[in-house]
Amino acid sequence: ADLALYTAKAAGRGRCELGAGRVASDLVADLTAALDAGDITVHFQPIVDLLADAVVGVEALARWTHPERGPIRPDEFIAVAEQHGLMPRLGEQVFRSACSQLAELHATTGRRMRLGVNVSGRELSDPTYPQRIRTVLAETGWRAQETVLEVTESLVEAESSTAVAALHELRALGFGVAIDDFGTGYSSLSRLDTLPSAILKLDSSFIATVASSERRATMLRSIVGMAHVLGLDVVAEGVETAEQDALLRSIGCRFGQGYLYGRPAPLADVAPLFERRSEERTPALRG
Ligand code: C2E
Ligand code: MG
Ligand code: MG
Ligand code: MG
Repeated sequence: ADLALYTAKAAGRGRCELGAGRVASDLVADLTAALDAGDITVHFQPIVDLLADAVVGVEALARWTHPERGPIRPDEFIAVAEQHGLMPRLGEQVFRSACSQLAELHATTGRRMRLGVNVSGRELSDPTYPQRIRTVLAETGWRAQETVLEVTESLVEAESSTAVAALHELRALGFGVAIDDFGTGYSSLSRLDTLPSAILKLDSSFIATVASSERRATMLRSIVGMAHVLGLDVVAEGVETAEQDALLRSIGCRFGQGYLYGRPAPLADVAPLFERRSEERTPALRG
């Protein structure tokens, strides 16, 4: 059945004679073409201060609509970009687009918020990365102090000295650093204490279980408490239900992100969610 599906799809492109390897390399070629054409777009998802009931930031998320296949999941095309050396270009395009859109929003409305951008290990291990993103800031007028670089635990665990050194350098320049998808890897909170990060983003797979499991809720309470002891802000990712929201509030988790508060969308659709007063609340998320 898989083969039939593949053949049918490939036939549409006149490639029924080609194997799966060729399809993968077509994706590489297509992604390269999309980068050349500037076809990678950015969606923004609000990050909410649960205490103040205000949007304090947005996370920039890459989007790609393939001309024949339609929308491709970021997990898929980011992996392709990583494996084929396209990540520096993709990451830079997303960063530039996000910065310039938010800088323009600020110029026209006075609204300001934190911008979270995902940074892969490959990017951070490139010694030219800090200089390249500073160039983007200079070109767009966006500030390091308003930017949070989201890195995953796995990158941190790899303890790539270049990547960790880059994080320290970027922190010193004013960038915030967040540990993304926390709870899916193996690092400990004491390990986090040694990293130049001030934000912990709790993975959605963790949040998904807390409302139905007393033990998980207790674990969440402990993690949030320990993060606070370490001076870290906590953002719960993947908040989908009012029940999860209520639990997070009762636990004292300050920040949330998820479909309950807003799905990733073009900036024009997300901007109306920003209260003007979010401007003065921005410093709440330390970075
Ligand atoms: P992430 O950084 O952990 O981003 C959060 C993901 O959770 C996003 O998936 C978002 O759409 C999804 N999400 C948000 N709220 C909810 C919710 O309530 N329920 C559920 N089920 N999901 C929710 P998305 O956009 O598919 O991106 C997946 C991953 O791809 C990101 O995970 C990030 O690791 C990576 N990624 C996306 N854009 C970029 C980029 O520009 N650069 C890099 N290096 N990675 C990126
Ligand atoms: Mg992220
Ligand atoms: Mg995440
Ligand atoms: Mg993720």
